Amino acid sequence: MAAIKEYKCPCCGGAVEFDSKIQKIKCPYCDTEFDTEAFTAHEEEVQNAKPDEMDWETTAGGAWEQGEESTLRSYVCNSCGGEIVCDENTAATSCPYCGNPVVMMGQVSGALKPDYVIPFKIDKKAAKEALQRHYKGKKLLPKIFKKENHIDEIKGVYVPFWLFDADADADIRYKATRVRTWSDSDYDYTETSYYSIGRSGDIGFDRVPVDGSSKMPDDLMESIEPFKFEDAVDFKTAYLAGYLADKYDVTAEQSIDRANERIKRSTEDAFASTVKGYHSVTTENSSIRLHNGKAKYALYPVWLLNTTWKGKKYLFAMNGQTGKFVGDLPVDNGLYFKWLGGLTAGFGVIALIAYFLFWLF
Ligand SMILES: [Zn+2]
Ligand SMILES: [Zn+2]
Repeated sequence: MAAIKEYKCPCCGGAVEFDSKIQKIKCPYCDTEFDTEAFTAHEEEVQNAKPDEMDWETTAGGAWEQGEESTLRSYVCNSCGGEIVCDENTAATSCPYCGNPVVMMGQVSGALKPDYVIPFKIDKKAAKEALQRHYKGKKLLPKIFKKENHIDEIKGVYVPFWLFDADADADIRYKATRVRTWSDSDYDYTETSYYSIGRSGDIGFDRVPVDGSSKMPDDLMESIEPFKFEDAVDFKTAYLAGYLADKYDVTAEQSIDRANERIKRSTEDAFASTVKGYHSVTTENSSIRLHNGKAKYALYPVWLLNTTWKGKKYLFAMNGQTGKFVGDLPVDNGLYFKWLGGLTAGFGVIALIAYFLFWLF
């Protein structure tokens, strides 16, 4: 017995048949009728769909010039494993992520030299003032947060980023529907038309960022984005003076999946925005091929202050370029009761005065 190829209904996935009465392909499950030619063309497209090709040349970062890295020192936090780099005149004492002491490991070895750096624009004084304004009026904030010598612990940290550049060449097919309803004296009718829509084109991506630090919480970093690349300059070790640099612990290769995901999603969204006038649109297949995919290594400036309170860590982070910040704060319930207690005592005094007044008259 010869194997008969089974054709699937693009609408419901059921096996379709050629209906000789109407001379069309018809789905016995959802009753959708297809023009034979359109059906064959769609089948061909499905067969010819190309897989994604999202390869990168990850030569991000460079080699240090002669003696350049000898001015840098590497420190490691034995508590969270964070590794930081700073210049020989800036001594690191505590970890910017967890607050625990760091130990010097010696000179930087092997770490790639960043391609770019966005220098700090907001200085320490401005970062501290912003933090103090953030605390202001919060009566129930535990005292440790407000202590001057604690606020002074705020650290300027360069966070490592991999920046991905590529030209994406994409073919995307969408399934869409249009619905028409009408009525006569006996019935209400609904007609659903199905469309297979194709879009092809090129789209360029510049510097899709993926952070290279597992210590920097992703949600925190995303909340203080964006960083404006216009201010980026070629990296020089001099920019590190007075600041810490987090050494990447996620490589460019390990960041490719996240970059591809962002590029694929953006391409699909951009193309989908051109498919208009339908009641529903879903992506049936998308194929993206990248050309000239290159990654670069950059350092972005962030002010960080870690506060531990009752065994929990609170991290304040500020974009060192734009001043955008984020930080959640706890409420000290002990303070809350003291404050309530104060109120009750106040009422007691008023009651007493009223009592005496009463007796005087
Ligand atoms: Zn069907
Ligand atoms: Zn640490």
